[in-house]
Amino acid sequence: NGTSNSPLPKHRVTAKGSRVPEHVDVFEALTDRYQVPSRLLENLSNNGYNRPTGIQSYGIPILLESRDLAAISPTGTGKTLSYLLPIMAALGAPAASAKSDAGSGVRAVIVAPTRELAHQIHNECLKLAVGRKWRIILFSKSTASTLADKSVRDKVDIIVSTPLRLVSSLQAGNLELHNVRHLILDEADRMLDSEFLPQVQEITAACTHENVQKAVFSATLPANAEKIAMKMLRDPIRVVVGLKDT
Ligand code: ADP
Ligand code: MG
Repeated sequence: NGTSNSPLPKHRVTAKGSRVPEHVDVFEALTDRYQVPSRLLENLSNNGYNRPTGIQSYGIPILLESRDLAAISPTGTGKTLSYLLPIMAALGAPAASAKSDAGSGVRAVIVAPTRELAHQIHNECLKLAVGRKWRIILFSKSTASTLADKSVRDKVDIIVSTPLRLVSSLQAGNLELHNVRHLILDEADRMLDSEFLPQVQEITAACTHENVQKAVFSATLPANAEKIAMKMLRDPIRVVVGLKDT
């Protein structure tokens, strides 16, 4: 049958919120429905991603429809692609290109609790962006100092970072987030705990664009974190993926 080549387990998915977009069963549907460039989808099959996982099948359409999202899905279910694909589909021309009408400043920010995780997300980003000229930065001490030059950072499209790094650059006046259209909190249970929350709030406050889309992704979301997330998000859709038989 058509699903036997999927390496990932089947999941049961619930999606709650107003006007929940229809999920997709195959990646190709994203081109028909949302004009996702087929070049992006080619990078998926080149990486052996043949079918969307549960969170991808529900989460990608929601984000492509510019909705805010709280996504709760177990570890290993492909949450990273769920937000990277919609970001890349929406980016259009690189900020550095003459064709870009993006204006100045980074347009997508992904925040993760550890350097190790940020590093993994950055790698996934590079795989999906093969053939595209976007500047995708893993924020570190050295990249932060390079980006202290505004003419350099205005050519950046996507930043992946830990919260503290972003906050340091914001406080030093070496980073603007006013053109950010996509703000993602990965491992949101950590991002919204008492250690990181003040930093996350500072980052959120700096993303002043009226159309900023926010999404949180996590394997679990304790009640307190969920309450904070729901306040942070605008008319969010909440997607929960559970392993079958649990
Ligand atoms: P999570 O963040 O939910 O823990 P990841 O995004 O790290 O999961 O993905 C887990 C693994 O599954 C990664 O190795 C990733 O490359 C792979 N993967 C993601 N989506 C798919 C897919 N649609 N088909 C096959 N493999 C996938
Ligand atoms: Mg993850």
